[in-house]
Amino acid sequence: MNASEFARECFRSVTLYDPDVAPCEVDLSDNTNLWGTPPAAQRAILTAGPEIVARYPTPYTSDLKEKISAYVQVEASMVVTGCGSDDVLDSAIRAFGNPGDRVAIPEPSFGMIPVFARMNGLEPVFISLGRDGSLNPSAFQAADARITYLCSPNNPTGVSLRQTDIDEIISNARGPVIVDQAYAEFSERSLTELAKKHDNVLITRTMSKAFGLAGLRIGYGIGSPALVREVEKSRGPYKTNALAARAAIAALDEDLPWVARHVSEVKTNRARFITGLEKLGLDPYPTDANFVLVPVSDAKQVGGLMRTRGVAVRVFDDLAGAGGAFRITIGPWEMMDRCLISLAECIG
Ligand code: PMP
Repeated sequence: MNASEFARECFRSVTLYDPDVAPCEVDLSDNTNLWGTPPAAQRAILTAGPEIVARYPTPYTSDLKEKISAYVQVEASMVVTGCGSDDVLDSAIRAFGNPGDRVAIPEPSFGMIPVFARMNGLEPVFISLGRDGSLNPSAFQAADARITYLCSPNNPTGVSLRQTDIDEIISNARGPVIVDQAYAEFSERSLTELAKKHDNVLITRTMSKAFGLAGLRIGYGIGSPALVREVEKSRGPYKTNALAARAAIAALDEDLPWVARHVSEVKTNRARFITGLEKLGLDPYPTDANFVLVPVSDAKQVGGLMRTRGVAVRVFDDLAGAGGAFRITIGPWEMMDRCLISLAECIG
């Protein structure tokens, strides 16, 4: 018997996550903050005494939940934290779904959601987005899933979902609706109000993107107190580490101007970069995030060539609705300029 067969059956179709993480001079592949880490968070890590590391943190990070709740303007009882928003999403799917239940997922969207569904014994059901990135609410209703996942702005298209479509899906859903807002800071729209209005809505957000803290793995969910307590049970105590929580608290206390400055720079560079892509004859998706999706023929070959010239982008070989495409993170202009030069040379 192969030792992998000791694992539960639903793990058979799941493989380990294996992105190309070979270091690259200009890495525009993972949508993190390319300006680095905010200063107060950095200081909080460097000045942490041994008592922070030797003892357990609070089981459910009550101190961090207080700060997050002030930032997103909800009661602290409406917040759950996790080891990245990945952890919150995985815990939510496990909390809300019985094995065999369906999870409705737009396609294309965040690639970890079908993995979390399968690992928890649930069945992903894919619902195509329009070429303009829009949802089809009646297709979601027809899927009759136990759990619905939406992502706005959506990864990898970058497109924000229409409010009326989201509202329609929420009111027709027969179970919880997870709205992933990992990129909320870069868009004009926070959807937190939905979590106040509907007790079946869980909004997830992260400090990995605009806050520049991806390595610390801090994500959170916002929902009705009863809903987030179920996610918290599923997640378990002590999952957000003490050093990360300390840095995240410092960032929320002191680094908001740093975050706002770089979000604003992303928006400026995003518009300028899109113009550059169009000048190369490319047709990028409209985007509300810190990345842009651009269809490219021979994406794999061109992406490989760019990598040898020191520029890494996220390559999609055959993305639903787009075919070959690059997802390119927006960072400091020198990086975007390097990317445009490399693109011009490699698309030929
Ligand atoms: N949701 C979306 C849409 C993402 O793109 C990502 C990161 N790639 C995540 C969630 C997870 O981010 P984290 O676990 O770092 O919070």
